[in-house]
Amino acid sequence: MLNTLTISDLRARLAKREVSSREATQACLDQIRRIDGQIRAFLSYDERDALAQAEAADEALGSDGAGKPLLGVPVGMKDVIAVRNQPLGCSSKILDKFISPYDATVTEKLRAAGAVVFGRLNMDEFAMGSSTENSAFGVTRNPWDTSRIPGGSSGGSAAAVAADECLASLGSDTGGSIRQPAALCGCVGLKPTYGRVSRYGLVAFASSLDQIGPFTKDARDAAIMLGVLSGHDPRDSTSVPEPVPDYAAALDGNIKGLKLGFPKEYFIGGVDPQVTRAVQGAVKQLEDLGAEVIEISLPHTEYAVATYYIVATAEASANLARFDGIRYGLRVEGVDPTDLYSKTRGAGFGAEVKRRIILGTYVLSSGYYDAYYLRAQKVRTLIRQDFLKAFEKVDAIVTPTTPTAAFKVGEKSDDPMQMYLSDIFTISCNLAGICGLSLPCGFTDHPKLPIGLQLLGQPFGESTLLKIAYAYEQSTEWHRQKPVVA
Ligand code: GLN
Repeated sequence: MLNTLTISDLRARLAKREVSSREATQACLDQIRRIDGQIRAFLSYDERDALAQAEAADEALGSDGAGKPLLGVPVGMKDVIAVRNQPLGCSSKILDKFISPYDATVTEKLRAAGAVVFGRLNMDEFAMGSSTENSAFGVTRNPWDTSRIPGGSSGGSAAAVAADECLASLGSDTGGSIRQPAALCGCVGLKPTYGRVSRYGLVAFASSLDQIGPFTKDARDAAIMLGVLSGHDPRDSTSVPEPVPDYAAALDGNIKGLKLGFPKEYFIGGVDPQVTRAVQGAVKQLEDLGAEVIEISLPHTEYAVATYYIVATAEASANLARFDGIRYGLRVEGVDPTDLYSKTRGAGFGAEVKRRIILGTYVLSSGYYDAYYLRAQKVRTLIRQDFLKAFEKVDAIVTPTTPTAAFKVGEKSDDPMQMYLSDIFTISCNLAGICGLSLPCGFTDHPKLPIGLQLLGQPFGESTLLKIAYAYEQSTEWHRQKPVVA
């Protein structure tokens, strides 16, 4: 059962030559064959290519590769990140048959670290959604209860790690798309600070909010992955030339004296009492470990969802203009270019993507720009200032990741507002450009579904989040539990 190992355990066993990367990769492929019919995390995967990479890793293990942090580790990829010669579809019909001609920077970095990069993981179309129901290729199911959604938009990435189909995966987070599915599937999900990880080769949804980050089975693995992914990239002008710390060094289990803020605005109606109980239990546990928890205020919280749906849709409407039937994927012929564009976009985009493009075009149109877009940008600054002020007093902030555990497939799909509200705790982090991590902190009773604890940190404060997450994990067993389908 090598597919059930963490990255650090597999690396230790590979180093001792007890197992090979080929065996570990084969174990993941076998698991996919066994259970992915029920989960549907993978849109596709290239078995031969994965095994060839694994064999190359096994050879490197005997030569110069032994020190590489991910040597021989199978890592799954969300369908929004470019992998050379593999499909890049964003779970959209409009990118039908599009094959990426190049590797994203994160893909290059994973390869340089020795990883076996494989699979296209299902997602909400163009990363717009919270349930993976907006994929043009079917819903991914939650491994804890297959009548439920895995979260989104990186639902495939979360479900695949939770169901032991790969050891880790990459997702992208624009308003919660790593942390929310990580919470609902019971894994660790990390959204790095804006600028920490290069976005080169990530298909843009909302460029000022998007970040790539890892899904892992524990905090140590998240530290390993973040160390590999981080760093300045001249090909992404928004990546920041900030040195990359040794994230694993922060994992000393000692959080004595750390100050944690609990925002009073996050005690809102609509939070499932079981979620509240689990999060309060986690906060108590962190106090027992020596952290000091104090109440803080983030006064502009109530405007976050509205602000996000103006900024994100505005940027999306501009970014998605490139899918015109000429350059990529699908083309529906028309009598003239305008007809071709509109027929291609009409046939290629799903309902949620169209809704966002229309909203975004509206808020940017003359006459409404000042009233909506400009004002949203101002509120965004206030939200960021709330956080920076809070971080003068605390080292990190603790909140629930989501108001409820995983909901049923179909439960919210007819009500976009209800769906948007499920991101209420994750969205501010992207607007503020800070970092956030979700880790398992308990379960609901009947049915048994994972609950996530969110840690928010200052810009480039990922080490602090990982330190807290690791200390918490050392004193709890939540992250070790396995779903029904695994
Ligand atoms: N659920 C949010 C949305 O629908 C966030 C998505 C994301 O982070 N990509 O936009």
